[in-house]
Amino acid sequence: MHPHLAADLAALPDLLEATREQAAAFLDGLAEAPVVPAGPTPEPRPLPARGTGLQDALADFAARWQPGLSASAGPRYLGFVTGGVTPAALAGDWLTAAADQNSMSSLDATGQHLERETVGWLRTLFGLSDAHEGALVSGATMSNTVGLAIAREWLGERRGISPAEDGTAALGPVRVLSGAAHSSVAKALSLLGLGRSALVTVPTLPGREAVDPAALERALRDADGPCVIVANAGTVNTVDFDDLRALAALRDRYDCWLHIDAAFGAFAALSPHHAHLVDGLDLADSLCVDLHKWLNVPYDSAVQFTRRRDLQARVFQNAAAYLGSLGDTPDLVHLTPENSRRLRALATWFTLRAYGREGHRDIVDRCAEGARTLGAAVASLDGLELLSPVRLNVVCFTLARSATAERLAALADALATEVFLTPTVHAGRPALRAAFSNWRTTAEDVQRIVTALERAVHNLPADGPTRP
Ligand SMILES: *Cc1c(COP(=O)(O)O)cnc(C)c1O
Repeated sequence: MHPHLAADLAALPDLLEATREQAAAFLDGLAEAPVVPAGPTPEPRPLPARGTGLQDALADFAARWQPGLSASAGPRYLGFVTGGVTPAALAGDWLTAAADQNSMSSLDATGQHLERETVGWLRTLFGLSDAHEGALVSGATMSNTVGLAIAREWLGERRGISPAEDGTAALGPVRVLSGAAHSSVAKALSLLGLGRSALVTVPTLPGREAVDPAALERALRDADGPCVIVANAGTVNTVDFDDLRALAALRDRYDCWLHIDAAFGAFAALSPHHAHLVDGLDLADSLCVDLHKWLNVPYDSAVQFTRRRDLQARVFQNAAAYLGSLGDTPDLVHLTPENSRRLRALATWFTLRAYGREGHRDIVDRCAEGARTLGAAVASLDGLELLSPVRLNVVCFTLARSATAERLAALADALATEVFLTPTVHAGRPALRAAFSNWRTTAEDVQRIVTALERAVHNLPADGPTRP
């Protein structure tokens, strides 16, 4: 054995303790660390020929790379929809790496049964019926991809062919209709051979990002044959929700597939104040929910659900003598793109086991409360304009005057040590988004954010040179 490997094996408990201390110090500093640190990116160094062991690697990481990491696991990182990591999820993730299971087939031990238990818990959490089966994937992009791959196979079934066997050319043109689809849907269509141009954008309701059901019905009437509807349950800019029951009725009337992208919006189901937003979620033929966002488990984790696991296995089956047969309950290897992967469900299992439905409802409620408070502050602050009512966990706003992308970027930069916001364009107007999804964000954090925002708006240089 290489001498450093042998030495590290002999000292493993102490080295894990040192790693734990480094992680604890990092987490301890999160609340006060600059949310986005300034400073140069380290120069890349050559591959070490011999290495110097784990202790040195820890020190090198702490010195060169750790200081440049953002506080995205901390309470005032409101960019994208990011979430953090609950203590139990962190413990589960550490143990995932320690056990290093490849739990994709029944030839291995109990890992995939743990994943099935976890998927069952998630089904209950989001109020889904037993008709939905699911599996874990790496993120919502992959969950949308799996859902749309099953939809593609369903379209083939309608036309008496199997795209999984015969290729997508046999399918002919496909239409995927959506009001305000997430960018990952186009990426999935590209990957699946359906093409980005298969995505047809249907008009939304006036001043909204929710699809207009009447416009969708017109598009379905005009379409030649079965379509796929991508419903949105939580758009990224304004967290708008399609009328899922109305869309399910159209699905039935026009013989379509209904995929729901509820990457973070599904968490509305946990809170009695917000559950009405996802009424009808269970009616999906396929459903996407991210776990590394609002469930607060580490990257990379999401779940996909479907009512047609038979079609799913047709797409993803990986027939090989040593992998076992499909049977009534196919092994995980036959259900998603990967053949081998980590026991991804464990972090989710831990956080659900530790905090249950009520603990996770508390996270959702506090995030929604934070967004409401910030939204009210933005609405009352001279110099800012709220662009949409706060429906759940995102505040979308802009400058009341001279709201150019440059000035908004300057505002975001001025805030970056205190709070991280991401730019967007909403209804043609440059804007900023503050997305609450971290379990650690407190009411005091929200007050700090409001204060920082007031100061930054006040100090923002007056309008630059006016443009022609
Ligand atoms: C974040 C998000 C996605 C993509 O999720 P990843 O986890 O980044 O792959 C898809 N849809 C919606 C609505 C999202 O918010």
